[in-house]
Amino acid sequence: MAPATARALPHPRLTPARRGQRGRAAGSGGDHTAYPGRMPSSVIACPSCGTKNRLPLVASGHPRCASCKADLPWLVDAGDSDFDAVIETSALVVVDLWAPWCGPCRMVAPVLETLSREFAGRVKVVKVNVDDSPVLAARYRAQSIPMLLLMDRGQVVDTMIGAQPAPILRNRITGALDRRG
Ligand SMILES: [Zn+2]
Repeated sequence: MAPATARALPHPRLTPARRGQRGRAAGSGGDHTAYPGRMPSSVIACPSCGTKNRLPLVASGHPRCASCKADLPWLVDAGDSDFDAVIETSALVVVDLWAPWCGPCRMVAPVLETLSREFAGRVKVVKVNVDDSPVLAARYRAQSIPMLLLMDRGQVVDTMIGAQPAPILRNRITGALDRRG
């Protein structure tokens, strides 16, 4: 835990930064970033063969490349409406509670992308924008973000607050995987 590096959650609805983010996102025509509820799946290139695969939000087992059958990194966005279905998986779930205005959250995002590739087939990364997901923010008491939860079959087994460097996150994920039966 490194609470000193975490940023207290301000009143996001009042901040100019948030209005700026929202306005820019609305005008950008949309890309792969975070609009839970509007995107049933996302597309990712297979790290092994480059084939573009649609990544399911919810699935039993875990996604594999349609072409070469390699395990695919599984990184999805979820929100209040679909979170419970999204975390229903046999994979270890890494939940990233983040917001667009949070600087340290932007440091965590590429680390999670890297780790989702390293742990393909064993870990599902679920990104939750707390601005758009007040129910989840309250449920997990996300007072400071970034906040990372490791979840095993619906139970939180580890919690980290603040931007974690890759080696620490990797250790915590490996530890949680080792503790599974
Ligand atoms: Zn492939």
